[in-house]
Amino acid sequence: MNPYVSPWMDDDLRTFRETVSRFVEAEMVPNDARWRAQHHVDRETWRRAGETGLLLLDIPTDYGGGGGDFRHEAVFYEELARRGLSGFGQGVHSIAAHYVLNHGSDAQKQRWLPRLASGDLIGAIAMTEPGAGSDLQGIRTRAVRQGDHYVVNGSKIFITNGGSATLLMLVVRTDPADRKRGLSILMVETEALEGYRVGRVLDKMGMAAQDTAELFFENVRVPADCLLGPEEGRGMYQMMADLPYERAIIALCGVGAMEGAIAETSRYVKERKAFGQAIGNMQNIRFKLAEVATIARVARVFIDDCIVKLLEGKLDTETASMAKYWITDMQQQVLDECVQMHGGYGSMNEYLVCRMFADSRVQRIYGGTNEIMKELISRSV
Ligand SMILES: Cc1cc2nc3c(=O)[nH]c(=O)nc-3n(C[C@H](O)[C@H](O)[C@H](O)COP(=O)(O)OP(=O)(O)OC[C@H]3O[C@@H](n4cnc5c(N)ncnc54)[C@H](O)[C@@H]3O)c2cc1C
Repeated sequence: MNPYVSPWMDDDLRTFRETVSRFVEAEMVPNDARWRAQHHVDRETWRRAGETGLLLLDIPTDYGGGGGDFRHEAVFYEELARRGLSGFGQGVHSIAAHYVLNHGSDAQKQRWLPRLASGDLIGAIAMTEPGAGSDLQGIRTRAVRQGDHYVVNGSKIFITNGGSATLLMLVVRTDPADRKRGLSILMVETEALEGYRVGRVLDKMGMAAQDTAELFFENVRVPADCLLGPEEGRGMYQMMADLPYERAIIALCGVGAMEGAIAETSRYVKERKAFGQAIGNMQNIRFKLAEVATIARVARVFIDDCIVKLLEGKLDTETASMAKYWITDMQQQVLDECVQMHGGYGSMNEYLVCRMFADSRVQRIYGGTNEIMKELISRSV
């Protein structure tokens, strides 16, 4: 079979992939078990990633970024996802940067993007609250303007990078009377910020190295020039504009995980023996591998189409939602089969497919649940 090559891949990106792969193998793979045990990635790893030029790859060099495009980011996501490295929250870090790039003033871009690119700041997106997940218009964290500051009170939950984040893209309610137009986004630097507190790093299924956390705000004073965009009330529109980018990343990581798990399973079934032969010789195993490889290929072609559309600025909400919903559903199905082909070893955390299986479940939930994706898709059908 001819190997499939993504239409957006070229020689420069292949060379770049080698750099990324070297970094991931040297700085991340040996530390993953420890990160999973301590429930966070080392602070130093962010700085090293920044020094190696691996953060904010698709942000212009004028703002300290890599000056590349989404293909460069995609290579990094793939190299992480194929190895089951789900702790390093590069996705939300990049997404936070894109909110600044897409909606911030030049002064705001100069203020935050270079420090996100160097790894001095770690980004997070703080939308979800205990009472507002799918229904973002229910957000209650309140920001009241008092002179040249906003005073923020409220809490957030399930925030990826929450324990280590030093720059929050924080969604707040600036107008209690208007559910939709009453939301705004504040970029909040958290270091030594009075009234700001990280709560529990949450004990969750899978993604053990990720410091998903609760955040609390008690009379936190945020300078008014941290408001993203020219005026209050733009939060919902800003989120709607940027969510396709986030959903493409989630779907791409799903494809990377499927490809990594299938490669690992294919290797495993050639070595594992039962009834006097490698289990990979048995028809059921061969057929299962054929099925998952076909699903992964269809998903790959679909995500590559999304990547091309994203590069052209043409990735619409419905297509991104289709990719997020279908690919993450398939990811879980494929991972389940890969675990099954590993037998009992597939349920042991020391095996890659076991960690990937547990990590994959939440892909169908965050970034907008797959039911919400269907809701969005159905509006255009
Ligand atoms: C590990 C992890 C990391 C996360 N990272 C972040 C992050 O970095 N930043 C952030 O802001 N949030 C984050 N989240 C939150 C995540 O985006 C929300 O959990 C998700 O949007 C669902 O919200 P909810 O949990 O309140 O579920 P609910 O909204 O209560 O949904 C419960 C169920 O009802 C269904 N449902 C709800 N409304 C509808 C509808 N209209 N039609 C059909 N079905 C519906 C849902 O699909 C779901 O099955 C994270 C969550 C997890 C678990």
